[in-house]
Amino acid sequence: MSTPPVAPWRDPVAEPLLRFDGITRRFGSFAAVDNVSLAIHEGEFFALLGPSGCGKTTLLRMLAGFEKPDAGRILLDGQDITQTPPWLRPVNMMFQSYALFPHLTVAANIAFGLKRAGMPRAELEARVAEMVRLARLEGMENRKPDALSGGQRQRVALARALARQPRILLLDEPMAALDKKLREETQFDLMALQQRLGLTFVIVTHDQDEAMTLASRIGVMNAGRLVQVDEPRVIYEQPSTRYVAAFVGDINLLEGVADTGGMFRLDRLPAVLRLSGPVPTGRQTLAIRPEKLRLARAGQGVGDNRFTGRIDGIGYLGDLSVYRVAVDDVLLRVSRPNAEHSASAPFVVGDRVDVTFGTDAGMLVQG
Ligand code: ATP
Repeated sequence: MSTPPVAPWRDPVAEPLLRFDGITRRFGSFAAVDNVSLAIHEGEFFALLGPSGCGKTTLLRMLAGFEKPDAGRILLDGQDITQTPPWLRPVNMMFQSYALFPHLTVAANIAFGLKRAGMPRAELEARVAEMVRLARLEGMENRKPDALSGGQRQRVALARALARQPRILLLDEPMAALDKKLREETQFDLMALQQRLGLTFVIVTHDQDEAMTLASRIGVMNAGRLVQVDEPRVIYEQPSTRYVAAFVGDINLLEGVADTGGMFRLDRLPAVLRLSGPVPTGRQTLAIRPEKLRLARAGQGVGDNRFTGRIDGIGYLGDLSVYRVAVDDVLLRVSRPNAEHSASAPFVVGDRVDVTFGTDAGMLVQG
């Protein structure tokens, strides 16, 4: 059996395609992007994730050349491009608004940048036809944008952004204008396209599910700073801070104090939990995902750690249900796949229940 290739970001000698080196951008005295350093490798689908206003669009705009940093450098293939104007960078951006020309047809929209670059006619026509095929727009070449659906308009914007064959495609909230179902389908289309072309995509999104689905790695931003850069699974399973744990996915956060021997005394409940793995002593927050907690009738729960409480609310989400369990005045969220319920009577609001979990179910986070 052949071993799978090492991901380039895990290979200490692999040279990144792109490097942000101490990048800062201020507006007045406010640092929208604050000393960000980051390496992105060829062929990556990299997502910048964070709440509105955290600086992700500003970082993307500096990469495109629309915004100049106040400090730091941007390197592409080891070359400093910090001062290079946007049109000389092998980078193209697909805007959230798509910015299609309403008076031009689909084909003319896609051809626009190629024409401006002076591409010979035969080559231009072949390239547009290729982009139309890639973006599944056959038969719509002569329509204007207002005769297209939202998803089709998005694909025209994508085709136009890819037509000049940039080395890096930047996507600013590319799914924002699409409804949920279309967004999900489009995510898979986008991943397939990126893999087929082998290009480097950098996407900005505030939608954690989108980042988790699409990205090879995610950079989580908070208030202008990059707080964690990792593969989606690591961001979810081993968040470096309380902020990342709470931003990505649903989570229970329990504050307390750890003493030697892995015992964790909770602040708000008269309980001492047993934890395994390295447990640094002192004040900590224990973060536990809802799916790591088990639910049983009161008195029937088995596990290293147990709380007894009452079901206070149930959210039915189709594939799973989320139970809110009141343990004294602490509310815990427990999720269970709905397929599990069929054998036994379902829980209802008011039921007394045990919430149990193993010593390794949670993770200790800082902050
Ligand atoms: P969103 O998802 O809402 O677009 P974002 O994370 O992309 O948010 P940015 O657009 O990068 O955030 O903005 C970061 C901060 O910088 C915000 O507080 C914003 O108000 C501020 N900012 C951005 N551009 C300017 C500007 N030209 N002048 C002044 N402040 C700006």
